[in-house]
Amino acid sequence: MSKNIKPESLMMSYGYKPELSEGAVKCPIFQTSTFVFKSAEEGKAFFEVAYGHREKNESEELGLIYSRINNPNLEILEKRLTLWDKAEDCAVFESGMSAISTVLLEFLKPGDLLLISSPLYGGSDHFIKKILPKFGINIVEFKVGQTQKEIIEIVKKTGLSEKLALIYIETPANPTNDLIDIKGSKEIAKHFSTGEKEIYLAVDNTYMGPVWQHPIAHGADLVLYSATKYIGGHSDVIAGACLGSKNLISRVKGLRTFLGNMASPNTGWLLLRSLETLKVRMDAQAFNANKVADFLNKHQKVEKVYFLGNLSEKDGEQFEIKKRQCLTNGGMISFDIKGGEKEAFKFLNALQLVKLAVSLGSTESLAEHPATMTHVDVDSELKKEFSISEKMIRLSVGVENYEDLIADLNQALEKI
Ligand SMILES: *Cc1c(COP(=O)(O)O)cnc(C)c1O
Repeated sequence: MSKNIKPESLMMSYGYKPELSEGAVKCPIFQTSTFVFKSAEEGKAFFEVAYGHREKNESEELGLIYSRINNPNLEILEKRLTLWDKAEDCAVFESGMSAISTVLLEFLKPGDLLLISSPLYGGSDHFIKKILPKFGINIVEFKVGQTQKEIIEIVKKTGLSEKLALIYIETPANPTNDLIDIKGSKEIAKHFSTGEKEIYLAVDNTYMGPVWQHPIAHGADLVLYSATKYIGGHSDVIAGACLGSKNLISRVKGLRTFLGNMASPNTGWLLLRSLETLKVRMDAQAFNANKVADFLNKHQKVEKVYFLGNLSEKDGEQFEIKKRQCLTNGGMISFDIKGGEKEAFKFLNALQLVKLAVSLGSTESLAEHPATMTHVDVDSELKKEFSISEKMIRLSVGVENYEDLIADLNQALEKI
């Protein structure tokens, strides 16, 4: 097959051999805990490779052993996911949080310093600030808009710059769509790396999904997803993924084997099905988001719209980062309604087609109130700083007809 074939053309077939499954055109669910070895010698050889006691031969593939270590649904899913980010390897998990927490535990140890961007997804923020310190890990954060020089100073001021082990960022930030520079973050990692120690950059790419932003191309070492969002895309599965080089992912898979937080065969199968329509779903969502943002930008009951498509030359660095990193304006729009919580709730309660729920990236459009829902845990000073106020609504745009979405938003705005 041609080298330039696009990922969307391979999502129905890549990595699957029908002849190994009675000719079934679709990969069945391998609902099995363990796999029969042809011989004791084969079992021994599989374990040697799985536990890293010897390197794989060139032609050798890791044999199937036990579904905590490997399973065909997960292996095929991992191969297909690598195509979007042009990653060497991938590990899938039972949730986005398990992918994130496994990476943090694998690449940090007691005494280390972790540098994070702020704000982060609430679950990541909680794990990093409330759980990692119990293991003696130090945390320092920087905010959107701070320059490389300022961030380097922040790290130095901790007195622990030699202990810096990992940089963890999320861009665009949820729910404000503020951008963090991936390439610039990698330069900070390089600044503190030494001959003996390389500092890795991990990027949570959930908000742009694997179609709209490719962090590895900008220098990221590890890319993380809540596959619950765009990858799964139907609000019917919780899952996660981590992508990177063969070497780093083998470390991630090593810890995953012993934490036992891999995805189940059924989850793997659901995601294989979801991936077949990933590109068409996300194309439709990006198209709809542009239409919906145009509508909100002009509505007199809307005070401000936070949308990547609203960035222009006058936004300076933010606009430059967008041009470099983002292939579309995404499918997430936040906006301030004129008024406060009362008006925001009135609007949310009046929605009919758009569902009132947290989560994002699914086929159906979802709206929520960050200040009292997803971001209720963020301390009030930070909320103010990030403009996560009572009047803010977050909207995840789905694949519905955009005219119907706009009509629903319009009638709900009229109720205020
Ligand atoms: C949802 C989400 C997560 C957590 O993923 P789960 O699948 O819910 O565990 C992490 N990061 C971001 C940006 C998310 O939106």
